[in-house]
Amino acid sequence: SFHKSKGQHILKNPLLVDSIVQKAGIKSTDVILEIGPGTGNLTKKLLEAGKEVIAVELDSRMVLELQRRFQGTPFSNRLKVIQGDVLKTELPRFDICVANIPYQISSPLTFKLLFHPTSFRCAVIMYQREFAMRLVAQPGDNLYCRLSVNTQLYARVSHLLKVGKNNFRPPPKVDSSVVRIEPRRPGPQVNKKEWDGFLRVCFIRKNKTLGSIFKQKSVLSMLEKNFKTLQAVLASLQNNGEPALNTTSMDLGDQSMGMEDDDNEMDDDDMEMDEGEGDGGETSEFKEKVMNVLKEGGFEEKRSSKLSQQEFLYLLSLFNKSGIHFT
Ligand code: SAM
Repeated sequence: SFHKSKGQHILKNPLLVDSIVQKAGIKSTDVILEIGPGTGNLTKKLLEAGKEVIAVELDSRMVLELQRRFQGTPFSNRLKVIQGDVLKTELPRFDICVANIPYQISSPLTFKLLFHPTSFRCAVIMYQREFAMRLVAQPGDNLYCRLSVNTQLYARVSHLLKVGKNNFRPPPKVDSSVVRIEPRRPGPQVNKKEWDGFLRVCFIRKNKTLGSIFKQKSVLSMLEKNFKTLQAVLASLQNNGEPALNTTSMDLGDQSMGMEDDDNEMDDDDMEMDEGEGDGGETSEFKEKVMNVLKEGGFEEKRSSKLSQQEFLYLLSLFNKSGIHFT
């Protein structure tokens, strides 16, 4: 019996398994990391194509079944099974990752791979269709969101295959897609936290103008606090080479890359959350500073739903140049 909670939907269509393996472009010298091997339908083809398969599987019954399946075959000494939760496991070095995973872990697994310390050629991953479409979405597409911008900063992403529910036993409720993720080498020259904090602000409402998002009191006061902290540190460094303050980094909610909550993002403009214009107090000068950055780059009337990665990087660099930081 299968565990629904572990997302155990076994691939039953051998043609599809072949096609995934073929599209992964595996070389005979490759070390393959497989996540969630289950009963081993994909594992077998991976063993035929590559040099070694390291499989991470949570369910001990599946681990046993997998070992039994390859015991006494020429494959057994080229298969290593690690029992455990892939999110809590330190991953080995590998050339290619192939994964048919439970969809609840899509987001954390993707970012775990993107931030994997050793380089790998690509990951070929089965996702829920809508998640896959978000990963590959381009500016102006309906599903373009923080997940798209974030992933595409670290990797080239392409859609490989549409997979209907009936290729699985038992069939899941949703359709799937196989996506190829190739990490960019060298990686982007941005501060991860700064970039993440910046995108969180830009995507508070993806269809709202940046001008109106950056006029929000909550945004301005967070940025001003960061600004003042940094100024104080810089001033004290000039005075005696010692920081007078501990820099406290601003916390914009949870520290995940936040992909999972994109579904809750409100895309409509009719729910206005503006907290009004600045109250004329000390923030008005700072507000002007922020607005000038937006004007300088021509971003005031632009909306995140249509901005390219280059434009986001450029806007962040303009903010940073003016001493405005998101962490
Ligand atoms: N790869 C097999 C196939 O294509 O037929 C099975 C895929 S099934 C969708 C997902 C597999 O991932 C199950 O075997 C499940 O036990 C395993 N799994 C679930 N959560 C996991 C986790 N956190 N770490 C590692 N494996 C996990």
